[in-house]
Amino acid sequence: MSSSPTSQKSSLDDDSEIHENTPLKCPDLWLNDGNIVIRATHIDNSSVVLYRIHKSVLAMHSYFFRETFYDHASVLDNSSERVEGTPVLDMVGDSMEDVDAFLKTLYYPEFTAPLDRSASKSNFPATCAGQLRLSTKYIVTKLRNLIVSQFHDEYPCILDAWCQKENERKAACDSGLTMASVYPDPVLTISLAMNHEMHEILPIAFYDLTRTYNSPSITQGLHDDTALTMADTRRVVRGNAALTNALLSAVRAPFRYQTVPACALLREDGWGDRCSDAVDDPWTWACKSRLEEWWMHHFAQTYPEQSSDPFGWLAGAAEAAMPEDICAPCGSFMRSVIESLRESLWFKLPEFFDLTDDLHRWGFDPYPEPA
Ligand SMILES: [Zn+2]
Repeated sequence: MSSSPTSQKSSLDDDSEIHENTPLKCPDLWLNDGNIVIRATHIDNSSVVLYRIHKSVLAMHSYFFRETFYDHASVLDNSSERVEGTPVLDMVGDSMEDVDAFLKTLYYPEFTAPLDRSASKSNFPATCAGQLRLSTKYIVTKLRNLIVSQFHDEYPCILDAWCQKENERKAACDSGLTMASVYPDPVLTISLAMNHEMHEILPIAFYDLTRTYNSPSITQGLHDDTALTMADTRRVVRGNAALTNALLSAVRAPFRYQTVPACALLREDGWGDRCSDAVDDPWTWACKSRLEEWWMHHFAQTYPEQSSDPFGWLAGAAEAAMPEDICAPCGSFMRSVIESLRESLWFKLPEFFDLTDDLHRWGFDPYPEPA
């Protein structure tokens, strides 16, 4: 077994080193001057790993350990069992893999690298799940913020940021990277977000998951959907239907809530006026029928292929070329209709997926620059 801390493969992966009930000293974190032994036990008690590290380092990072060591130090030292004279602290309820990843991240910069999504292109968010769980549980604020920012980067709550992310992913796949290395696993993301106070990423994570349901080729094999709770499975199904219904009803009446633009053309029969008075009377809007005809044609031609990704389809529609017989102001108007449809659907994602708690900032930048 390699003892190099640079190896991301956990030292716990090598079964030959772990004998039943024989504690294994972690070779990377059994430090001569350590003053606390952290003990991680497999859930079925089949194996135990010990880490001799420093209270001061744990306390420096973690509010929980700060409180434990400074407020209850004598209790811990006097009552706990010892290994080679050093008091033992059990990591109760934490998996061995999580403890291993978490403690190494506190000591070795190499283990922080996989938390940087730009440095590690694969297997997100599994690469940081253990660190997220334990940094939340033990209140390791800086480490948790670092990890949460990666989730915000993958699942932004701003529409433009999501579109930019999607373009980056497509470019990465075009350059030869595998989909598994580019697209995060939405099921694990949802599970982590639900359980570790990251509700702000849920609307777009659920949307991402509906894409895999509707078009399995997008992220086929990336996730184990048996990991979803029944309530979340229901959210996926209902949310997908609600989003599709809202999109289709808006597509069928694209100008219902819009102010008519200043059309540059006269009607072909000479009736009416240029729409410079912003009239909402269809008889005086020269380009209206041509716009509607183009829109329905564009929908019929392109939507079936992209129905699993409404936001991707709308982004393409907003950039599609307009026929020459539609005047420039009406062409711009059509694009603004599509943009406002995208935005209105985006703002409704929490409602579609029945995620209304704690999401009052959805659609707005959660971290505005200070004035
Ligand atoms: Zn016009």
